[in-house]
Amino acid sequence: MLARSATDLLRDLSVRKLSSVELTQAYLDQIKLYDGQVKAFLHVDPAAALARAKEIDDRRAAGKPMGKLGGLPVAIKDVICTKGQKTTCGSKMLENFVPPYDATVVKRLKEADAVLIGKTNMDEFAMGGSTENSAFFKTTNPWDKSRVPGGSSGGAAACLAASMAPLSIGTDTGGSIRQPAAFCGVTGLKPTYGRVSRYGLVAFASSLDQIGPMAATAEDAALLLEVLAGHDPLDSTSANIPTPEYTKSLSQPFQGLKLGLVKEHFGPGLDPEVEAAVREAVKVYQSLGATVKDISLPHSKYGIATYYIIAPSEASSNLARYDGVHYGYRTDEKQMLAELAAERKSLEAKQDEKGLKNLDTALIRLYRKTRAEGFGPEVKRRIMLGTYALSAGYADKYYLQALKVRRLIRSDYDAAFQEVDFIIGPTAPNPPFKIGEKSGDPLAMYLEDLYTVTANLAGIAGISIPCGLTSGKTTGSPLPIGLQIQARPFDEDRLLRAAAMFQRGTDWHTKRPNL
Ligand code: GLN
Repeated sequence: MLARSATDLLRDLSVRKLSSVELTQAYLDQIKLYDGQVKAFLHVDPAAALARAKEIDDRRAAGKPMGKLGGLPVAIKDVICTKGQKTTCGSKMLENFVPPYDATVVKRLKEADAVLIGKTNMDEFAMGGSTENSAFFKTTNPWDKSRVPGGSSGGAAACLAASMAPLSIGTDTGGSIRQPAAFCGVTGLKPTYGRVSRYGLVAFASSLDQIGPMAATAEDAALLLEVLAGHDPLDSTSANIPTPEYTKSLSQPFQGLKLGLVKEHFGPGLDPEVEAAVREAVKVYQSLGATVKDISLPHSKYGIATYYIIAPSEASSNLARYDGVHYGYRTDEKQMLAELAAERKSLEAKQDEKGLKNLDTALIRLYRKTRAEGFGPEVKRRIMLGTYALSAGYADKYYLQALKVRRLIRSDYDAAFQEVDFIIGPTAPNPPFKIGEKSGDPLAMYLEDLYTVTANLAGIAGISIPCGLTSGKTTGSPLPIGLQIQARPFDEDRLLRAAAMFQRGTDWHTKRPNL
């Protein structure tokens, strides 16, 4: 039952062949059995989930109107606020943060009669591509537990692959929905900037962040996006345009579908097995009637450099609020004051005037210690990078320059979409790597995002769908490979159709790991 698609399960729920309590219990059992090894979840509250499922079942039995998700469990990345439930962002800084309100997406999920099954693990503040940066524990890849699930929405993707939830919500600032979807063999959609409200999403880089659906199939992702998307007066960046009924048009055929293959996507660094699977996927589309054209995104080679200026710059500003005063973790004040007094005493004894002049005030020391203890190393790296890129004398050279290149990247896409309907290529340059393999080398980790960051910089939509498995010759066990499809802004409707078309012609999306 757990390997079935959400759409399929919903059909049984709606005719009461299956109850939400039974279904929720089955996923909770699966979590109990396997999450000890996969570690996808940071928090699960079985009693609350079952009570909610029962309430939905009762309402259905009484013939009351049902929301679109009618009793389906949904997992939520722990960067999205859930009222009364811990929301840690994978950080010690927010270890005990219990939001007093629901994010708009959570509100919508509740209104659609979803059962919130748990909060999923992630890289701290969504900074990372492997979920190794979580302050709590590392999530493993259900296909090979010595490997990473991708990140930062690693828990969100792994819980789907391990059949611990039928639907999952992720966030994507530079690839964090698409890359873990690729690594875990599931479907993940990054909507257009503005498509989904971010009210109640803890901000990483506000001009790039988007919330999006993750699921087993494009059809399930369409169902979930229908619930998530739409204008929200509480998020001034959310677009005031109607949300199409994505599930309705999924099987509509394309007339003269044109796909673009980006020549810059097939350069050095691309794993041969990933390349072969992507080229095979291209053939599948051709056999379904698509024409394929070679195109160029000439500025995409600056994508990583541009992203790793803009994202940390925005992060350094967004994360300034975690200072131990407004909210979040606070260092042990008594100990801090005692240390400060001891330092002052010793400086006074040495009559060190300069030392005394430079000594922190209590407030500055509180900020300093709180931030030193509350943030992990990658978050600190980003804050330093961003602060540097924005500082007087360097802002023109780095930050403003990056904004100009960002504009060029968007223009490349605009030109490409004059010629083709969609751009297809690899989601990530390689299959899932070993835990620890890249964690000591930030640059190698940043290169994971080679093919994904440009969609965020341009604000367009992108999806990753399973398109193959490695042979296992070099990797030990077969590992998932993801195909990325990118679309014009607000073209999710057709993007999901193109993904569904592929999934009707292939069965990669039905493969599940042997747990
Ligand atoms: N891996 C990228 C980073 O570390 C993307 C993260 C994300 O999309 N949240 O910034």
